[in-house]
Amino acid sequence: MVIVLLGPPGAGKGTQCKRIIDKFKLKHLSSGDILRSERAAGTELGKKAQGFMDSGKLVPDGLIIEMMVGAIAKAGGNCVLDGFPRTVVQAAELDKELARNENKIDAVVDLVIDDSIVEKRITGRRSCPVCGDVYHIDSLKPKVEGFCDKCKDQPLVQRPDDKPDVIKQRLAAYHQQTSAVVGYYAQAGHKILNIEADGAIDDITAEIFEKINGLTTAR
Ligand code: AMP
Repeated sequence: MVIVLLGPPGAGKGTQCKRIIDKFKLKHLSSGDILRSERAAGTELGKKAQGFMDSGKLVPDGLIIEMMVGAIAKAGGNCVLDGFPRTVVQAAELDKELARNENKIDAVVDLVIDDSIVEKRITGRRSCPVCGDVYHIDSLKPKVEGFCDKCKDQPLVQRPDDKPDVIKQRLAAYHQQTSAVVGYYAQAGHKILNIEADGAIDDITAEIFEKINGLTTAR
């Protein structure tokens, strides 16, 4: 099963992904997380991606596609894609690659939310540099303030690209390139599940599960 999760930065993709993978027994493939671990490991790819990421710009398609195709193969084609595809070129390449492996996208989940809300959400976001778990200073507090629940004495950090001016650039990149991905999927005949992402986290999860289950029972 392949699920694509779309939505602007701060829409709650990471949080919802964790729940989707538990429920449907899939692997979570976050292009942003993979890039951050490549950077932390100092790989060639990490070095190439660094400048783009720090300024909130998209990393070139060629680098991302190769990286994600490898990750999907490793996951045995059962995954939730979070943050990928972000351009029409990436979306088209993903369809081709899945078809080559007799696989396909089962659901495109689009988290819809206003820029003003996500700007507020992202500035309060803190994450664990070790396991990648995400918290919020108001709405998703860790058990001990400033520290990861799982990695215990690991202090939480604010991602450099979660600072206000970079957020504006990331939202601009989303609107310029990624919203066209929704159009691509509609045209390619994929069923798009629109989810209002400005609500209680549990309610949003319930709606996502209900809509995905509706798709599988409709077959
Ligand atoms: P994210 O954590 O998904 O918001 O991604 C963080 C940063 O990684 C983005 O601002 C981009 O610079 C880069 N990135 C992640 N996924 C992609 C992608 N599919 N295409 C291009 N750049 C990406």
